[in-house]
Order: sequence, then C-alpha cells, then structure tokens
Amino acid sequence: MFYEPRFLHRCWAFLRGHAWIPCPICKNRFGGHEWAAGDELWITERDSVAVCPLCVDEARKSNEENGYPRVERPPSATSSGA
Ligand SMILES: [Zn+2]
Repeated sequence: MFYEPRFLHRCWAFLRGHAWIPCPICKNRFGGHEWAAGDELWITERDSVAVCPLCVDEARKSNEENGYPRVERPPSATSSGA
C-alpha cells in the first residue's frame, strides 16, 4: 500500500464513497480504503478508533500496553477468509 501522495488517496476516497477521517495518532487524514480490520486504537474497553496505515504498529503497541481489546472477537468477524 502506497501512502503517498495523499491527494490521490483523498480523490479515491471521495470517488469511491470511502470515509476520509483523521488519524488519532498522527492527525493525518486517511481514506477508508487504506484501512484494514484490526488497524485500530482502543480507547476504552468498548471503543476503538481507526488509525492510518503508518500508525498501526504504534496503535498495536499502545493496545498491548493497555491490555486492549479486553474481549476477543470471534474469529469469523475479523477473518479475511484466508
Ligand atoms: Zn497515523
């Protein structure tokens, strides 16, 4: 996945109707098409926010330190079918 250039991703997100949302960690905006299941930062036991592809590692580290998510989701919910 190519992160740059941002304006191309922005156009793509707009054209395809994807979300264009700010990353809670680096504050850069990114498109829903760049997001993959599991790329999230947990803030509470129930709530998580999507993070951009560049911040996935940092989010995972933070989640681990906080012990999130507390409840494992059923594998069928996150499996990509591989
Ligand atoms: Zn980010």
